Amino acid sequence: MVLQRIFRAVIMGPPGSGKGTVSGRITKTFQLKHVSSGDILRANVNAKTELGLLMKSCIDQGQLVPDGVMSRLILGDLRALGNTSWLLDGFPRTVAQAEALEDVYSVDTVINLNVPFQTIKQRLTSRWTHLPSGRVYNTDFNPPKVVGTDDVTGEALVQRDDDTPVTVMRRLKAYENQTEPVLEYFRCKGVLATFTGTETNKIWPHVEAFLHKKLFASAGNIS
Ligand code: ATP
Ligand code: MG
Repeated sequence: MVLQRIFRAVIMGPPGSGKGTVSGRITKTFQLKHVSSGDILRANVNAKTELGLLMKSCIDQGQLVPDGVMSRLILGDLRALGNTSWLLDGFPRTVAQAEALEDVYSVDTVINLNVPFQTIKQRLTSRWTHLPSGRVYNTDFNPPKVVGTDDVTGEALVQRDDDTPVTVMRRLKAYENQTEPVLEYFRCKGVLATFTGTETNKIWPHVEAFLHKKLFASAGNIS
């Protein structure tokens, strides 16, 4: 589908809420560029860049990377994309980051995946990731075609270093304390759309219908 204008979206939700999976479907269906802060950081860690080496312990412990570092990194990448429609995943995660983003861009819509914490704890420990692409699988409900390998490249899947039970709890706390206020920030701006559920496959059709309406509504109809 070809978009008529530049569209800027953010996807939010606690760790393991399905942001990665839903982002993949959104970017494929609506041709938005996926910009995932976690994938960008992990690529830096893997490539052992100066930034990656500095941030690895932060990430492995489930703590947030400092706002200044994160905002510079993501805003730099967005600038490099130029006039492209994008979907931001994992950024902004604090009100300071949201303000840094709003200084430069106005966001059209924020998709909020509201998944209960109990569901999330179970999920994260059965998650397998293809690090180079960020594709995620779940041994319970979204398994790869061949155990332990990526469907597209056939390369090995790994469990993320920060998907251990203790770190998962810390990430959920960081979400509650630092990221939930960002939802309020966007709610006040009138751009927040919340989707509640425990299964990605059930949430997805609602997200798809919402974005379809949002993106293809005639000019007078845009809500
Ligand atoms: P999931 O991938 O399941 O959505 P998540 O949201 O915790 O889980 P990522 O978005 O991949 O995971 O982020 C992994 C880690 O990278 C975070 O725990 C944090 O340390 C760091 N990080 C990612 N984005 C940001 C950000 N915007 N600000 C600060 N730290 C970040
Ligand atoms: Mg993610």
